Amino acid sequence: MSENGFCPEPSADVREVRDWVHEFARTVVRPAGAEWDEREETPWPVIQEAAKIGLYSLDFFAQQSFEPSGLGLMVAFEELFWGDAGIGLSIVGTGLAAAALSATGTPEQMGEWLPQMFGTPDDVKLGAFCASEPDAGSDVGAIRTRAVHDEASGDWILNGVKTWATNGGIADVHVVVASVDPSLGTRGQASFVVPPGTPGLSMGQKFKKHGIRASHTAEVVLDGVRVPGSCLLGGKEKLDARLARVREGGRAGEQAAMRTFETTRPSVAAMAVGIARAGFEYARDYAREREQFGRRIGENQAVAFLLADMATRVDVARLMTWRAAWMARNGRSFDHAEGSMCKLVAGETAVWVTEQAIQILGGAGYTRDHPVERFHRDAKIYTIFEGTSEIQRLIIGRAVTGLPVR
Ligand SMILES: Cc1cc2nc3c(=O)[nH]c(=O)nc-3n(C[C@H](O)[C@H](O)[C@H](O)COP(=O)(O)OP(=O)(O)OC[C@H]3O[C@@H](n4cnc5c(N)ncnc54)[C@H](O)[C@@H]3O)c2cc1C
Repeated sequence: MSENGFCPEPSADVREVRDWVHEFARTVVRPAGAEWDEREETPWPVIQEAAKIGLYSLDFFAQQSFEPSGLGLMVAFEELFWGDAGIGLSIVGTGLAAAALSATGTPEQMGEWLPQMFGTPDDVKLGAFCASEPDAGSDVGAIRTRAVHDEASGDWILNGVKTWATNGGIADVHVVVASVDPSLGTRGQASFVVPPGTPGLSMGQKFKKHGIRASHTAEVVLDGVRVPGSCLLGGKEKLDARLARVREGGRAGEQAAMRTFETTRPSVAAMAVGIARAGFEYARDYAREREQFGRRIGENQAVAFLLADMATRVDVARLMTWRAAWMARNGRSFDHAEGSMCKLVAGETAVWVTEQAIQILGGAGYTRDHPVERFHRDAKIYTIFEGTSEIQRLIIGRAVTGLPVR
């Protein structure tokens, strides 16, 4: 390894962040998890508390995104989601929208919109990223939302229906992926900022979910939404140049939405690692105490071996996540789809580990008297959003075979 090579030992700065977030997760987030899961509402008071200590802030996200090893956000997300995933997603959902904006936005656009996504500790705001549509989930190329340029004013007019948007309709700033030239399919898309209070953007159905119930998920309806030309992320010149290259049959770069997913995958994996670890630790502690047949259940090999596998898989998921985060931060290309690999492994690990946790608690695990059933419900989203497990396998399959796997 070179001097700046991958190191699985977090720096003192990263350890400090980890311990600070852990304390917030332990004292504020974990105790509130069950309540907000039942209420199925955005936990505004918890987000405000996170804002007051500087955890829900642009400064924190920016600082940790630029942390040189790439591990800053990873440890923060693991700890927060160890506390509770529904509340965790309510706190970091804006970060995903911010990442979408930063992936294609100009420095001016970032300077204008990122602060408005977070607001201030006294007036907290949210951001939402809207790519998915009823007929365009895994198939991002099927996006039907249209963005039409009004030559006279320079404005863009957006029409369409977005679905599954985290913070959709309750966010102040929405980042919307739309098709500029449907004849170019996936290559004819661009991302737009819809500023706070823009007429024509409204919330559709709010979904009642299996897990991460404290996190708001809703449809977003775009009906003649008019935004100034400055809201096209990256600017018109860049878009025109890209579209011209596509029309000439040249390389056109990646689709707008796919680029966002690339950069956010290790972060999403880190959330799943946090849930998995929470499930493992809870089951381990239970197995040390609970007695049947005159001995602690953890003294049975069957239970101890399960705990051994759970601990091992959590470590595997974390190490793969940290590797991908380090690669992304240090400009390494994901030749073997290492970003997808970590998301795949972490998501499936979270589901498996939390299911085993229920098993180790027996009947108690199946009730809401213990959090493991909630951990399990929360974990399941990690094999679905930000690319399903099948889509991750598709990407990895293509990378490792070099074949156009379908
Ligand atoms: C709680 C929640 C929050 C979300 N937040 C956001 C958000 O903030 N912003 C946003 O834009 N989106 C968001 N999403 C959307 C999410 O990314 C999509 O649900 C996901 O991409 C899958 O799309 P889909 O639900 O339409 O499933 P589909 O694409 O219809 O897939 C259904 C099944 O078919 C499989 N499948 C599809 N194509 C293939 C293939 N080629 N090969 C093999 N199997 C295949 C899938 O893996 C899956 O098992 C969220 C979703 C949920 C549930």
